[in-house]
Amino acid sequence: MTVAAPLDVDLALLGGGGAASLLLAALDRHGVRDLRIAVVDPVRRRGQDRTWAFWGQPDVDLDPLLSASWQQVEVATAARRRLLDLTPLRYAMLRSGPVYDRAAVAARRLDVTRIVAPAGTLTDDGTQVVVRVGDGQTVRAGWVLDSRPRPPARAGRTTWLQHFRGWWLEADRPTFDAARAVLMDFRTPQPPRGVSFGYVLPVSDRYALVEYTELSPVLLSDAGYDAALAGYRDLLGLDPAGLRVREVENGVIPMTDAPFTPRPSPRVVRLGTAGGATRPSTGFTFSAMYRQADQVARALAAGRAPVPAAAYPRRHRWMDAVALRALDRGGVGGPEFFDRLFDRNPAERVLRFLDGVTTPAEEVAIMNSTRLLPMIAATAGDAAHRVRDRLRPSRPAPAIPAAVTGAGRSG
Ligand SMILES: Cc1cc2nc3c(=O)[nH]c(=O)nc-3n(C[C@H](O)[C@H](O)[C@H](O)COP(=O)(O)OP(=O)(O)OC[C@H]3O[C@@H](n4cnc5c(N)ncnc54)[C@H](O)[C@@H]3O)c2cc1C
Repeated sequence: MTVAAPLDVDLALLGGGGAASLLLAALDRHGVRDLRIAVVDPVRRRGQDRTWAFWGQPDVDLDPLLSASWQQVEVATAARRRLLDLTPLRYAMLRSGPVYDRAAVAARRLDVTRIVAPAGTLTDDGTQVVVRVGDGQTVRAGWVLDSRPRPPARAGRTTWLQHFRGWWLEADRPTFDAARAVLMDFRTPQPPRGVSFGYVLPVSDRYALVEYTELSPVLLSDAGYDAALAGYRDLLGLDPAGLRVREVENGVIPMTDAPFTPRPSPRVVRLGTAGGATRPSTGFTFSAMYRQADQVARALAAGRAPVPAAAYPRRHRWMDAVALRALDRGGVGGPEFFDRLFDRNPAERVLRFLDGVTTPAEEVAIMNSTRLLPMIAATAGDAAHRVRDRLRPSRPAPAIPAAVTGAGRSG
């Protein structure tokens, strides 16, 4: 039997999804040309498999890829509907197709080797990493950037999931207000443990993504998502007779204070959700992935190690742990929590806080706008839980479950 010689590369990207696609584009953008790069993923990502929504300043790099963007967004509760002006930020929608297409163009320019097989074990000797690939091949890499999905290092104190189903709805007459998006609509029936909301992202007056999202510990059934989403459509006053479901989007994103390991060994760096880019309190990931892709590409272009800054400052992760605990243990109601945040702060401050880029003074203002007593209780509970965690062996984190998809539907 002949054994194939190892493939020698400077950089091996394990996983070719969101984080890796943004990284390939960033490497191209920053003019990196002289690196040998391999991408290992059993799936060749292309076309529409998810829609990214995020906010930020208008941006020359991303804006040409957007399907839509909005200066005005609504946050609704049973008590009121608030219209927020996000200037100077904007809320943006980016479908996966253009991101994967741009990554494919970048990969050609960077002369990337694609290995369409699962990556297995990694052996890091501190100078290089040997990657065993499912098809029997071996890759020897100077650095590994690993975005394969994986659970956190150990169980968190709070383990929630953001799980959702969205319908791309086409209306037979003008139906949606394309000038504004619904960011969070908490008028949906609230689950016994957790928070739910709907949202609407219109790309025109006849076409919109309408989604039902739950932040809670357990998934719904297929029929449960359909019922919740139909309920939200009805709450919006949309007539199903004049609408067609063109695409279905399902997803599960971890929301936990459990630690993701960004650097498991000297020459392995984790990116994307596996590297901790998902904000525990919201599930938003895109902005941190984009930021880290840019940092890694800049570092490589300057001949430095491809190690990004932490996705979120430590104090943000602590605040998220407290907020998640307060929501989970029932001290704070989800709709009330978000309502107060937007009521007592400029929208821009809340959104920058949720991206992890506010100053400590702004964070004090944010914390002051939450109800004090439940947050103090959650802070004390979190501190006591941390002490208990130090005294007992850590428990393994549960795997992040796959999204529930209906028969024959896209995920
Ligand atoms: C439907 C959906 C909608 C989302 N919407 C938003 C949003 O609006 N805003 C936001 O901020 N975040 C959103 N997220 C969260 C987050 O931005 C995405 O999950 C994002 O794709 C994460 O990028 P990633 O690279 O970490 O993971 P992925 O994009 O999932 O990529 C992981 C890759 O690893 C590959 N892989 C798996 N096993 C192996 C193996 N053994 N070897 C090699 N490769 C392997 C997979 O095939 C996949 O291509 C959404 C997530 C989903 C699922």
